[in-house]
Amino acid sequence: MEENLNYGEDYKYIPATSVRSGVGIEVLDDVYMYTVQIVNIVLYGYPHTNEFVLIDAGMPKSAEEIISVVEERFGDDCQPKAIILTHGHFDHVGSIIELIKHWHVPVYAHRLELPYLTGKQNYPNPDPAVSNGWVAKMSPFFPHEAINLGGNIKEIPADGSIPYMPGFRWIHTPGHTPGHLSLFREEDRTLIVGDAFVTVKQESLYKVLTQQKEISGPPQYFTTDWSAAKESVEKLAALKPNVMITGHGLPMVGDELSEALRNLVNDFNQIALPKYYQN
Ligand SMILES: [Zn+2]
Ligand SMILES: [Zn+2]
Repeated sequence: MEENLNYGEDYKYIPATSVRSGVGIEVLDDVYMYTVQIVNIVLYGYPHTNEFVLIDAGMPKSAEEIISVVEERFGDDCQPKAIILTHGHFDHVGSIIELIKHWHVPVYAHRLELPYLTGKQNYPNPDPAVSNGWVAKMSPFFPHEAINLGGNIKEIPADGSIPYMPGFRWIHTPGHTPGHLSLFREEDRTLIVGDAFVTVKQESLYKVLTQQKEISGPPQYFTTDWSAAKESVEKLAALKPNVMITGHGLPMVGDELSEALRNLVNDFNQIALPKYYQN
């Protein structure tokens, strides 16, 4: 199982942080969000049970922190049933190899994301020209080479179901990456978005640092297909989520969420597109 596990050659710790780093929020009884530096991981499952799943794998070099967060919620020496990846960017798979080695659990991602997770294809270089923000300027230093999870990475079932997450289904939300997926539970309209759009202006150091809440498109420096990204936002808005967690920024619920999503759909070009794409 553990043959050929490696990160890309450009893998490294990224010294970025926010006021939310190290803070967890119980968004629902069975949905917990925790911020690793600038990115969110989600734990699905009731506390102190063995039936839980980790969604995304944090920043590089954060495995110990993630394991201790998981053990605090679910008990010492516990392990998730699986890890689900919304996509393969470095800030969502940053500690995946250490977590696989520690827990020996399967990892699931969309079929179209597998080349980036099996050492076959690098993500394009991040585009620092998208904005003058410091994070965008720093983005050329972000790891973007393919990682290789060997036989540990599996294609998420094509029927839309998510292993060990009854009631949830996955939704293909390409644009930010080709195989990006989001997770939705109809029953209480809970949406785990990933980076299809986010609630913090990810290009700005100040806004990332303070986590000022503001609906925004997908992080610009990594997004490659803006028309697909727009369609994905429309697809998610049509679900009329009531509770929402994004890969970056704070959760949103209820009226604030509906209004923010409506604005994002109506003004997508203005809110989400890099300035040089507009007009
Ligand atoms: Zn991303
Ligand atoms: Zn991200």
